[in-house]
Amino acid sequence: MKAVLFHQHGGPEVLEYTDFPAPEPKPGEALIRLRAAALNRMDVFVRNGWVGLKLDMPHINGADGAGDIVSINPLLPEGEGLGMRVGDRVIINANLGCGSCEFCLAGKDNLCNQWHLLGETIRGTYAEYVCVPLRQLYKLPDDYNFHQAAASALVYQTAWHSLVKRGNLQKGETVLIVGAGGGVNTASVQIAKLMGAHVVMVGSDAQKLAKAESIGANILIDRSKETDWSKAVYLATNKRGVDVVVDNVGTTFMQSLRALRKGGRLLTVGNSGGPKFEIDNRYIFAKHLSIIGSTMSTLADFKEVMDLIVTGKLKPILDTMYPLKDAAAAQERLWQNENFGKITLDIPSPSQGEG
Ligand SMILES: [Zn+2]
Repeated sequence: MKAVLFHQHGGPEVLEYTDFPAPEPKPGEALIRLRAAALNRMDVFVRNGWVGLKLDMPHINGADGAGDIVSINPLLPEGEGLGMRVGDRVIINANLGCGSCEFCLAGKDNLCNQWHLLGETIRGTYAEYVCVPLRQLYKLPDDYNFHQAAASALVYQTAWHSLVKRGNLQKGETVLIVGAGGGVNTASVQIAKLMGAHVVMVGSDAQKLAKAESIGANILIDRSKETDWSKAVYLATNKRGVDVVVDNVGTTFMQSLRALRKGGRLLTVGNSGGPKFEIDNRYIFAKHLSIIGSTMSTLADFKEVMDLIVTGKLKPILDTMYPLKDAAAAQERLWQNENFGKITLDIPSPSQGEG
């Protein structure tokens, strides 16, 4: 098959569009012929590498993908057909629980003891084919676009689990979202609006803020024009503060803590600004604040949010589509923060047979 892979960590130049053996499905797995993949910042972190990350080289990036089932390993454990058939159009859930540890058995597979993420710890979706366990698949309606599907899986499940399940977002609450353009943030705006919440957006790019407004953000704050944007949030909420902050930057935590009302919740699923920063602990106890972390979602949450996506209640925002072979350019666009919404890769039909 054709794939974009790398043999060593480094910049975009290490990505190579080349031939690689197609994977074979293990018992309980399906072989998917991919039609679209979507990029996440994690792809670039994995390509760059970090201390302690051990990959089976060459590695293939990519957590998100959608395509058709080409084959199913018939040696299924009992009861695991799951209604999937060859030819079904599917979206992949990259959050791979083992299915048998205490957390997986309790339906909390994102806490799995042997957790893997497609494209991070094992080879991913920048390829013509990928194998995943059948329980990781969601069947798409015949008319649902593969690119929109690929763009949705990781960011919507992450935002849904964080805002709705971990954050317990309620109708009528005010949510502050820090950063305007990322996939999780645009998903969070839509989910907050669907839940009946009021959305305040802080960003530094006027165009991205305008786009955020077009998908439902109620109050926009341009942080490039503020010395301390937490004050602007405070004033915009009649000196009350917001109920919930979605902060996936990390280095902005102090401003986020200041922008919260007493008893408010800070939700985080990532750290695009870097992993280490200082916090003034007095804000947390004196204001009765909660800091709530999560990553990915459970299989049940994934199904719940995909049901809302394929019925059009949540609409993935697409930025730019690149051919698979131009994955390096696509990653550069993402890394430079030039996108609003998701960048996807178009994966052409395999040229020679099935591998
Ligand atoms: Zn497990």
